[in-house]
Amino acid sequence: MKKILFVTSEAHPLIKTGGLADVSSSLPKALAELGQDVRLILPNYGALNLNNQVNFCSEFTVGTHTIRLLETKLPDSSVLVWLIDCPEYFGMAGNPYVDGFGHSYANNAERFALFCRAAIEVAMNRVEIDWKADIVHCNDWQTGLIPALLSMEYECPQTVFTIHNMAYQGLFSGLTASVLQLQPELLSPDGLEFHSMISFIKGGIAYADKITTVSPTYALDIQTPELGYGLEGLLIYRNEDLTGIINGIDDDWNPEHDALIAQKYSVKSLPDKVVNKTALQTRLNLPVDENVFLMGLISRLVEQKGIDLILDCFAELLSLPIQIVILGSGDKDFEKRLNQFAAAYPHKMSLTLGYDESLAHLIEAGADVFLMPSRFEPCGLNQMYSQSYGTLPIVRKTGGLADTVIDTLPDTIANQTATGFVFNEESAGALLETVKRAVLLHSFPVAWKQLQTNAMTRDFSWKSSAEQYLDLYESIE
Ligand code: ADP
Repeated sequence: MKKILFVTSEAHPLIKTGGLADVSSSLPKALAELGQDVRLILPNYGALNLNNQVNFCSEFTVGTHTIRLLETKLPDSSVLVWLIDCPEYFGMAGNPYVDGFGHSYANNAERFALFCRAAIEVAMNRVEIDWKADIVHCNDWQTGLIPALLSMEYECPQTVFTIHNMAYQGLFSGLTASVLQLQPELLSPDGLEFHSMISFIKGGIAYADKITTVSPTYALDIQTPELGYGLEGLLIYRNEDLTGIINGIDDDWNPEHDALIAQKYSVKSLPDKVVNKTALQTRLNLPVDENVFLMGLISRLVEQKGIDLILDCFAELLSLPIQIVILGSGDKDFEKRLNQFAAAYPHKMSLTLGYDESLAHLIEAGADVFLMPSRFEPCGLNQMYSQSYGTLPIVRKTGGLADTVIDTLPDTIANQTATGFVFNEESAGALLETVKRAVLLHSFPVAWKQLQTNAMTRDFSWKSSAEQYLDLYESIE
């Protein structure tokens, strides 16, 4: 049994701004179920959504700050969570990283450096709780200083650094090095220095024993100039220690048990799926039609997700015999342009701007296909949810999408592995052609049902991902 300290800046349902929060609760739970002694550690933000009891554990100092270590449980699990309580840095309500105007807090470097140092005190068993980590599993730039700082310690635990999105690097002015009192040995171009700045993510990439990212293809993608953001050279250098492990999906996203949909169903009762389609059409004021090809999209409306590719061919797309349902929010220009199409095609398109968990579930259950034309995608969740709902994903061949969706081709139809539709080129034309391919196949119900069956019987469980992390922990010498 390994003692694993899982260090993260967010964990669902305590605090969430993105997919990192989902991984940070699901993976520790799955590791605990595999018999591991896993503890979570995160800052005690003012905005934490705490339902379980919180107990005081110990008090210690980091630099001039007094830290209280608090302890609670992750809701609906036995996983223990340690909270780093330092009100002057984490006490404010609201988003953990940015203020009400979306600007990063000016002292983010100090805040997360303190978090890293406090986590190290816990990992090294220096806070009177009689627990020393074997593995410190760090996530994203907020925890990147941990492998760097631990490399300066004797008898330190082994470290794993997981990159959930290379686009966020924790870059700070070079002056930060002295503010944070970082040892000079760490400041070379082989270390934290990045073009005269300090890069927190480099601390993880340069110093961790093992580096992971959330899909095998994204592990390759980030070794290219397009998606390496200037760190592709270092990633290529560390290539032997870099692997990709696909995230799992939670059982909340299972049409057999989903309480948020109109009619539960499974691969054995696939005809029941259509009840969700008519419920979705009714709810969104679209013409109720069981046979129309219904396309769903749930996404942050940002360039990463390829929204502009859709907009570039939207008129042609909407001239096909289809309906399209979009749920999302984000870039104001994308929202405006989507709204114009929604106004022009009220019988074919529904646009819901905002965040709506229950509508998201109904779209997954009610649509025939799910559109995800991302420019890059570290892992992606919706294409996996979609497959478990028998809603075939149409995706661009990038990152986790390339790893989890098997294109419908003569050979994959024949060997019953096809689960969706994949296109390679980052263009509206390629997207449109692929939608047309799916529309055509949808007119063959027997073939379509086989694709749905292939998709719904795949294993996207957290258990299989957690087993791969465990193998990785055990492989570190
Ligand atoms: P990313 O983390 O890059 O946004 P993922 O596919 O990994 O993309 O995860 C996105 C998650 O957020 C999914 O669970 C998706 O259903 C959910 N989501 C995104 N936008 C919305 C929305 N407007 N309403 C409800 N859920 C949303």
